[in-house]
Amino acid sequence: MSNLIGHYINGELTNGSGTRTQSVHNPATGAVTGELSIADADDVKQVVAVASGAAESWSQVSLSKRTAVLFKFRELLAAHTDELAAIITAEHGKVLADAIGEIGRGLEAVEFTCGIVEKLKGEYSDQVSTGIDVYSFREPIGVVAGITPFNFPVMVPLWMAPAAIATGNTFILKPSERDPSAALLLARLWAEAGLPDGVFNVLQGGKEAVDELLTHSDVDGVSFVGSTPIAKYVHETATANGKRVQALGGAKNHAVVLPDADLDMAAEHLNSAAFGSAGQRCMAISVAVAVGDAADALVDKVTALARNVTVAEGTNADADMGPLITAAARDKVLRIIGEAETDGATILADGRNLSVPGGEEGYFIGPTVVDRVEPEMSVYAEEIFGPVLAVVRVPDLAAAIKLINANPYGNGTAIFTGSGAHARTFQRGVQVGMVGVNVPIPVPVAWHSFGGWNDSLFGDLHVNGPDSISFYTRGKVVTQRWPEPSHSSGASFSFPSN
Ligand code: NAD
Repeated sequence: MSNLIGHYINGELTNGSGTRTQSVHNPATGAVTGELSIADADDVKQVVAVASGAAESWSQVSLSKRTAVLFKFRELLAAHTDELAAIITAEHGKVLADAIGEIGRGLEAVEFTCGIVEKLKGEYSDQVSTGIDVYSFREPIGVVAGITPFNFPVMVPLWMAPAAIATGNTFILKPSERDPSAALLLARLWAEAGLPDGVFNVLQGGKEAVDELLTHSDVDGVSFVGSTPIAKYVHETATANGKRVQALGGAKNHAVVLPDADLDMAAEHLNSAAFGSAGQRCMAISVAVAVGDAADALVDKVTALARNVTVAEGTNADADMGPLITAAARDKVLRIIGEAETDGATILADGRNLSVPGGEEGYFIGPTVVDRVEPEMSVYAEEIFGPVLAVVRVPDLAAAIKLINANPYGNGTAIFTGSGAHARTFQRGVQVGMVGVNVPIPVPVAWHSFGGWNDSLFGDLHVNGPDSISFYTRGKVVTQRWPEPSHSSGASFSFPSN
């Protein structure tokens, strides 16, 4: 009998009322490893009612009790890292070390929320007028839905749920259908940490479930991470339904390499940033912008490194890189490499026709380096989300910045240089949300906020850090007077002045 993967609602595992299921695969073998319950509209109504009810009591729980749960959750997460990593690798395919790294970045986000008492301190103005004080503080927004992508089944939910819960909200996680099981272990750990039933829930499903969440009147906020077209749709639909929304989208991240850079270092970092997790990271480097004389040497070095990457099942301790998530994802990458060839680009390292022993039915493709790419080619224009590094050659730094700013995305970017002046010109000139200087994947630590610009983010506030506290709360300001019993009211028909 196959493994049935269900929802987690009000502290219980359930298959819900929906009658549809969808197969979950191990991308390294193609084997079906589970059948996922797909939520229908009634399941959504049930989970929202539960989260809504739980919000009334959870929002009243003291900060010290909430903090105690967060500390315990942090310890349990750390203690279950190996179990969680094995689940990630089995359904996503990324190598175990990378899965452990993902959990580490998630832990960091939990640690940030362990200091929630500090983040929720309000402001107080004494005696703004005679006998009158004003103070402001923040309250939870209510029920938050988190809709997450396949590529970080633990880290991205942990960008959202701990901050939402720490600030007094209840949370409904709608994970990706491709790798849904990690969410259920997170649910178990929250329960073991002492979180009351109904505060953290998991709803499995696809478009129908998402649409119901986006339009349900008792959902107050939506945090989304995924591809740009869906992010845009989620933002438009949920805002039209009166919700607070942050929707992080896709990316095409450029790394600029100047002739004054340490080219060995740049090539090594480009290699890992382009091919780590098979290129399925929203902050992966997919375009190397080789400036002037740097190009020939850089291309030689990066191609040699790409040919040396060990591609194997993620559980293999020697693997640098695993498979793509689905056969469709692999076929898209194959199409784009083929088009690059027809468009006149040069394929230097070629990941097509890769053979992985034992992975003949898996969705593998090897690291691919494509040189002499032009912006109008599909290998540049599309978000590939696979192990393909496109090299665009430009004459100078100004041309590199112009190229980046003409791209519709603006998630992350990096520069490799030995010059502080060039780095500063770059940092100030690029219209991108996260910038690395000799750091290829500039994902900020969790106490800074994470977010892109342009088509990489719809909404204002980023995830993690101070923005997450603002997103999951709303401000309240109290103006108070406690008159002495003998004091006359002093009420006036005119607008008050001090
Ligand atoms: P996706 O957009 O296909 O799916 C994301 C979520 O949306 C999933 O939960 C899915 O079930 C749901 N969904 C899919 N189609 C939908 C529809 N038509 N209507 C409503 N809901 C729908 O993304 P993915 O393939 O799972 O993840 C990869 C994408 O996510 C890439 O584009 C990547 O760049 C992006 N991403 C961005 C960030 C970031 O921080 N900006 C982080 C991780 C991933």
